[in-house]
Amino acid sequence: MLKEVLAGSIVGVFVFLAIIGINILPLILFGLLGGAVFLIFEGQLAAMKGIGKATTGDNISFDDVGGQETAINEFKEALEFLLHPKVIAEMGIRPLKGILLVGPPGTGKTLLAKAAAGYTKSAFVSASGSEFIEMYAGVGAKRVRQLFAEARKKAKREGKQGAIVFIDELEILGAKRGSNQSHMEYDQTLNQLLVEMDGVSTDNQTNLLVVGATNRADMLDAAILRPGRFDRQVAVGLPDKKGRLKILEIHTRNKPITDDVSLDDIAKATFGFSGAQLESLANEAAILALRDNAQAISHKYFIEAIDKVILGEKLDRQPGNEELKRVGIHESGHAVVSEMMKPGSVSSLTIVPRGQALGFMRKNTPEYDQYLYTREELESQIMVALGGAVAEEIVLGARSTGARNDFEQAWKLAHEIVRCGMSGLGVVNADDMPKDATSKECSQILQEVEAEVLQLLLQNRTLLEMVASKLMEEETLDRELFVATLSA
Ligand code: ATP
Repeated sequence: MLKEVLAGSIVGVFVFLAIIGINILPLILFGLLGGAVFLIFEGQLAAMKGIGKATTGDNISFDDVGGQETAINEFKEALEFLLHPKVIAEMGIRPLKGILLVGPPGTGKTLLAKAAAGYTKSAFVSASGSEFIEMYAGVGAKRVRQLFAEARKKAKREGKQGAIVFIDELEILGAKRGSNQSHMEYDQTLNQLLVEMDGVSTDNQTNLLVVGATNRADMLDAAILRPGRFDRQVAVGLPDKKGRLKILEIHTRNKPITDDVSLDDIAKATFGFSGAQLESLANEAAILALRDNAQAISHKYFIEAIDKVILGEKLDRQPGNEELKRVGIHESGHAVVSEMMKPGSVSSLTIVPRGQALGFMRKNTPEYDQYLYTREELESQIMVALGGAVAEEIVLGARSTGARNDFEQAWKLAHEIVRCGMSGLGVVNADDMPKDATSKECSQILQEVEAEVLQLLLQNRTLLEMVASKLMEEETLDRELFVATLSA
């Protein structure tokens, strides 16, 4: 923006000088010369930045990647041509040029690409899609050329037959052509990538394989997915319980842990965590243990680390007594409803602020990862979400802004009931539904569920207030203390 304003002002000054009769020709020539020098320098610098990320594979092997057995098998199969190029050629098989790893952030896509380099004894260079895109036309294309050149050079230098070029955030570089504002630069960069990939097979010296990673395969230009380019896609999803256990084992290998640690329980309690979050969990547990001067990491540190990874660091911020009481009642509302709906479902509740939350209730995780829900199960989740606000209303006479996230969550769950054809509207096509009809149905579901929550908490008001006052006293109730309070 600043550059545009500057350019506009300079043109304005030149026009003004010309009008008042000053000869501006030498000035223009001088300006052009200066501009050219600047652009050349900028281009060189930018290009250097582009290949700056050429790294080694860090000696990563497929054993260091947990919970991705299917992805690893598919990947290994595709790597055969780097391992046995002659056999592949004899069979007349067209060599594979690109593999696309598709999955949410932090699931191990970069790790897989590095492991592939180790597995095939190839050189490894990497870059991220965002590094290619500059304001100046041509710079991105130049960086693409240099990345491929660097891969070939590196393979030669290291005496390797193959090289893997890893491009992270491929959707930035390979988005549908014409979809970006400064589309000329984006399109040129993408075209250059396609040219490089097409040229891969004509290079007989080094077997190059391009591995792209993205979490938005839908944004990619069709040309990039065409056979002969990234024609193999490998899904790298969130790990299931077994996968989470394996990842936790990998990231605790180098840490002293006590005998009471059950990685199995931690894997159970971390449904929805990515590999990166599990790595962070193991790291945070070690930091918490170190803070307490513990010699080894015990189970409680892992449990605390789960909360830390989900919600953030504990805060020193201490709300006033009135607010603390409200938070206590709110969390107790969630907990009492949860326990009534599903005995054994509450793991702990606290009014110690952490991250954005002033307090929170943690649920016990089920024995198995759950991917499907009935309407009844979704409604009972809505009841738990609304329990906090309804408890505040019953005990303190009014709700507060603290329930906003709960309401968002409840609304999402109601939406899910409607979209999945489990509401009074029957089977619907979510894309064809008028927004009004969906909203009306969601509101109705929430009103009905809210009435049930009110009823339930009114009937159990004494219990609710007992839990809230114990929570105020202790700040945190683990399952044992919570159950003891309920049965007191
Ligand atoms: P992004 O899409 O954000 O680039 P990514 O899928 O490439 O993420 P990685 O960079 O491979 O994720 O993962 C980050 C870190 O998380 C790794 O260095 C590793 O410590 C840990 N990690 C992620 N997935 C796994 C896994 N499947 N097994 C073991 N560790 C993992």
